[in-house]
Amino acid sequence: TAKLANSPPAAVPRFRVSQGGDNLEYFIKKKLSVWCRLHNGVWESGQIQSTSGEKASVLLSDGSVVTVPTQELLPANPDILEGVDDLIQLSYLNEPSVLHNLHYRFSQDILYSKAGPVLVAVNPFKDIQLYGDDFITAYRQNLLDSPHVYAVADAAYNEMMTDGINQSIIISGESGAGKTETAKIAMQYLAAVVGGSGGIESQVLETSCILEAFGNAKTARNDNSSRFSRVVQLAKGERSYHIFYQLCAGAPSGLRGRLRLKRACDYTYLNQSDCLVIHDVDDAHKFHMLMGALDTVRICRHDQEQVFEMLAAVLWLGNISFRVIDHENHIDVVADEAVSNAACLIGCGIQDLILALSTHSIQAGKEKVAKRLTLRQAIDTRDSLAKFIYGSLFDWLVEKINLSLATGKQHTGRSISILDIYGFESFKRNSFEQFCINYANERLQQHFNRHLFKLAQEEYELDGIDWTKIDFEDNQDCLDLIEKKPLGLISLLDEESKFPKATHLTFAMKLKQHLKANRCFKGERGGAFSIRHYAGEVLYETGEFLEKNRDALHSEIVQLLSSCTACQLPQWFASVLEQSEKLASSSFQLRRPAYQKQSVSTKFKGQLFKLMQQLEGTTPHFIRCIKPNNKQIPGAFEKDLVLEQLRACGVLEVVRISRSGYPTRMTHQEFTRRYGFLLPENNACQDPLSMSVAILQQFGILPEMYQVGYKKLYFRAGQIGSLEDVRKQV
Ligand code: ATP
Ligand code: MG
Repeated sequence: TAKLANSPPAAVPRFRVSQGGDNLEYFIKKKLSVWCRLHNGVWESGQIQSTSGEKASVLLSDGSVVTVPTQELLPANPDILEGVDDLIQLSYLNEPSVLHNLHYRFSQDILYSKAGPVLVAVNPFKDIQLYGDDFITAYRQNLLDSPHVYAVADAAYNEMMTDGINQSIIISGESGAGKTETAKIAMQYLAAVVGGSGGIESQVLETSCILEAFGNAKTARNDNSSRFSRVVQLAKGERSYHIFYQLCAGAPSGLRGRLRLKRACDYTYLNQSDCLVIHDVDDAHKFHMLMGALDTVRICRHDQEQVFEMLAAVLWLGNISFRVIDHENHIDVVADEAVSNAACLIGCGIQDLILALSTHSIQAGKEKVAKRLTLRQAIDTRDSLAKFIYGSLFDWLVEKINLSLATGKQHTGRSISILDIYGFESFKRNSFEQFCINYANERLQQHFNRHLFKLAQEEYELDGIDWTKIDFEDNQDCLDLIEKKPLGLISLLDEESKFPKATHLTFAMKLKQHLKANRCFKGERGGAFSIRHYAGEVLYETGEFLEKNRDALHSEIVQLLSSCTACQLPQWFASVLEQSEKLASSSFQLRRPAYQKQSVSTKFKGQLFKLMQQLEGTTPHFIRCIKPNNKQIPGAFEKDLVLEQLRACGVLEVVRISRSGYPTRMTHQEFTRRYGFLLPENNACQDPLSMSVAILQQFGILPEMYQVGYKKLYFRAGQIGSLEDVRKQV
């Protein structure tokens, strides 16, 4: 039976006064290095000179001497372990040691390291000569074995071919950490390895150009950030999706005329953030590249034209304005070029569009009565139409590309999936978006833990080791808090979203009332709440949860789109929505009012479950991307920032799991070869197993510090360090 314990994260191991190589006196006697945390929280390396009570005086590498409490000291690794490829090889797996190792490698332009089965990639923010055909060949032929994305992609490819099992490469990290670049590097490798089969590799690579144009935008943290939902509202200094600016800058004159296109600065959706260009990026050139890419993946010219029409329609929708006509803030649509151009591009009548944007019909008894919208309602209606068109366009495009790539290809039925997913987020103010992101990461973290656990279990069992002594942290409590029915966070949110009179405060009250028993939940003041995530506690403000979760789309709007006869896409968008609604209502056995969309959180949960299901059928490979600084500049390695990410993306957890297990492994032969000479002569002729046991006893390694397997010896962290010291003295 698997033992996935719900234990709190293990404390960082401090120096112990017990037996073994990591007590204070031993470090003083041997003049060994230690990590010493100074007042400002920074870890510096040094040597302990003396101790008195709970204090130690430490000589730092710059020659100064500091006095610190002994609990601020941690053992450092011997010099021979400086910059090892795999963090797990470190004798001491504490945070400063892990950080130092990554920093040491980063300063030599070695971006990639392993943490057991996980690849850690630190973003260099500059070009490093690590990629391209020569490197691909070298990894393919096993001439290079240092950690690399290519090595991960190669392992995935080989395992797929030999085991016939689908593979996945799961890439995570925070915004700007390099996930999308890493995904492209992996694709580049796979495309090269399968190259030659009808040009599919170039088509697959070109898809990133298209997906980035439609799915990426400039944000404060990344000039090319993979984003979702930002069509109608932008923060200062950020842009909407690249494609809008590319279209405005690069469309040839014929197309411009047909789309009635103006400059980016003329559109409200684009000019609201005072940021229209990206340094060093030529949008017009990018547009030509995009058209080339659309040709390469065989999206026909007719379809391309339709895509551009929808984009222009979105831009014109944003320019539609309203005039308030009474004291209750009811409005009229201003009948200007914006509304006529939008109607023309969508393919509906101008009056139909005006009606849909200014009225809402409600059922009054047996009759339907049209009610005029208020200014706020009208703006929301217009914006939700724009968002809906853009979102549907993206889905349509992905489907088209997939269809095109699949045409005429022979399928083996095996696949490698690459997942580029936004990492855990925790800001000063966290809202519904962070909640969804962190929920997805919570699910992935469980997948990650279980996989590591399984790997460890398999290895220990094969070698006859009692693996039940190894605790793994599980985050099931947190997932229950979010997912449980009927009293989980999402269910409560959906319920509250349906009440017309509900406010964020009634929602917050409801959460407190039903969730307070879960150890991962904490009600906070002012309608806020905290969740204890695996990567830390996050404070959420309930402010816009209800509206964002509803994301209502009036039935008038859907009817308008389905009635468009002039263009194909709007009708298609409406029919997809209607179908998904039918499915949703039949599966819940509920009769829903027409077009009341599934709530955003429930839809998100459904998509996440589908994704997890897909991943569970694969052998996963994990890559954790780390951003070394917030300025997007080369060379700077901010330790605190890196440490936070190592925690958030579970790297320290891998390290912790390894520490709670037996990270150092050696075969009986290796062990006796290295330490056999330490035994008295008469023991030396025994078999490796008996000799190993004799050595362990001779040097008083405590039984709980190791296990003896059929083939290997398994040691707790730090045990080999003390044997090494004895060996050196002889
Ligand atoms: P987001 O979550 O915002 O989408 P991301 O993790 O996908 O962020 P990327 O867009 O992949 O981040 O990377 C951000 C920038 O970092 C890139 O535009 C590039 O300049 C740089 N970068 C990332 N990886 C590398 C690399 N291996 N070599 C050189 N530069 C890199
Ligand atoms: Mg990205």
